[in-house]
Amino acid sequence: MFLQLPTLKERSVLSIVVLSSLWLAVLGNLALWRNLVNLPDLTGFHGVVFGVAFAFIIACIVAACLALFAWRLTLKPVITLLLMLAAFATHYMLTYGIVVDTPMLVNVLQTDSREARDQLSIYLLFTVLLLAVIPAIWLWRQPVVTHRLHTQLLNNLGLFIASLALAFGTTQLVFQDFSSLMRNYTEMRYQINPLNSIYAVLDMTVIPAEQPRGPMQPLGEDAQIVRGSVQANQRAPLLVFVLGETARSQNFSLNGYPRETNPLLAKENVTSFSQVSSCGTSTAESLPCMFSHLGRTAFTKRSNEFENMLDVLQRAGYAVLWIDNQSGCKGQCVRIPTAYTSDLKLPEYCQTGECRDTVMLARIDAELAKLPEERRARGTVVVLHQMGSHGPAYFKRTPTEFKTFQPECTDSSLSQCERAKVVNAYDNTILFTDYFLSRVIGWLKTQDKNAGAMLYVSDHGESLGEKNMYLHGLPYSVAPPEQTTVPMITWLSPSFEKFSRVSTQCLQTQRDKALSHDNLFHSVLGLMSVKTSVYQRELDFFAACEGR
Ligand SMILES: [Zn+2]
Repeated sequence: MFLQLPTLKERSVLSIVVLSSLWLAVLGNLALWRNLVNLPDLTGFHGVVFGVAFAFIIACIVAACLALFAWRLTLKPVITLLLMLAAFATHYMLTYGIVVDTPMLVNVLQTDSREARDQLSIYLLFTVLLLAVIPAIWLWRQPVVTHRLHTQLLNNLGLFIASLALAFGTTQLVFQDFSSLMRNYTEMRYQINPLNSIYAVLDMTVIPAEQPRGPMQPLGEDAQIVRGSVQANQRAPLLVFVLGETARSQNFSLNGYPRETNPLLAKENVTSFSQVSSCGTSTAESLPCMFSHLGRTAFTKRSNEFENMLDVLQRAGYAVLWIDNQSGCKGQCVRIPTAYTSDLKLPEYCQTGECRDTVMLARIDAELAKLPEERRARGTVVVLHQMGSHGPAYFKRTPTEFKTFQPECTDSSLSQCERAKVVNAYDNTILFTDYFLSRVIGWLKTQDKNAGAMLYVSDHGESLGEKNMYLHGLPYSVAPPEQTTVPMITWLSPSFEKFSRVSTQCLQTQRDKALSHDNLFHSVLGLMSVKTSVYQRELDFFAACEGR
């Protein structure tokens, strides 16, 4: 029943690679395009331009991969394999909303034939026929021009380099959108066919697995509160550790920012440390390191997981509590009492699935009351994990009455806004944090059974368009100071000054000292008078002021 087909003209390897790459990038990514269209970030003409550029980048990377296999015997089988992978992935992505990553691939390979039969459907057959079988039939019918070995080698090399250069150049053109997309929708990188499958296969085969870390090591087993630090007539210490989010030091008027972003804290007896560097440039990177005794360098090289500052404080006998108004504590609060604001139904604080940071103060008394009485008699440490200045939708972080700096950028795709509007929206979040911290201090002042203190420190900073960079998360070695210089503010009540023998007056003289997250573990233990062999006095920035 086959018709006599006309003799086909020989095609060059280049044209086969280009056509296949375009097919794979455009039609092999129907699920990705569907998801992209549904995102609020990229709309209208701008969204279309970005989509075209995105497809072109994918096509170039696929072409670069194919260039490695652009030999007579390997080209067609490799393209066929990629067509099949993309078609199957598209079907499962469209039907089940899955993404293709290494665990998924392991799952697929472990699926037994009965399960596989259950998943067979007419839609699957249709998708595979349309996206893979038909183009594969076309492909195998194409006669390919053959060259001598060295000519083909040069051609392939040229194709490889040109494809990567084009991919790189186009990425630069849409870098802002691209990087904010990949950061806000991390899962999207696993939706790019067939690169997701290629990566998963490589990950399972040739990419060396990260060295498994040894079991969790206990820390500070000898920890105890220095005897006599809480005497009968003294108040038990109460430290509120406010864990900031995406706040950068330079936008705090306490640190010299010309805009009045700290009007309320300026009225309090606080110390704002101006030269504090973060441990990482993202929450996931910074958080575990901030609570670790190791410091940045040793932390990245650690061969074991260790317990953290909060475990040591708890072991010493203090009541410890974590209240989270963020995406969780990154493993830092697993052994201590924790409260999540996301469970709360408090319409005055929480709307559209997100709560204002002040919700934590609305909950703090009730959550503290749940802690053991005998521990609270010795003292308490509470971590309040802020939503803070979490981007890119800064404007969503502030209630109307804190929108002092106008006009605000209200587009999550920050590069679409004038820089000044981005900075306005960001500065309003700092203004709200200023209010939140002053409320924390206000609450501490009412705790007349306790000696209250606050320590505020942010996890990392943020780029706001400097050198065309936005958001955060750059590798630490190349990250700009905007992403790594973080605010740190202390407030000590007179009774806490008596307990810790550290005076604000002395701390003020230390405020421009170069400090980092490396100091936190030891400084908090020192401030709370915890004695343990893991404490290093030289890293305790309060130690210089002890007794002064
Ligand atoms: Zn963060």
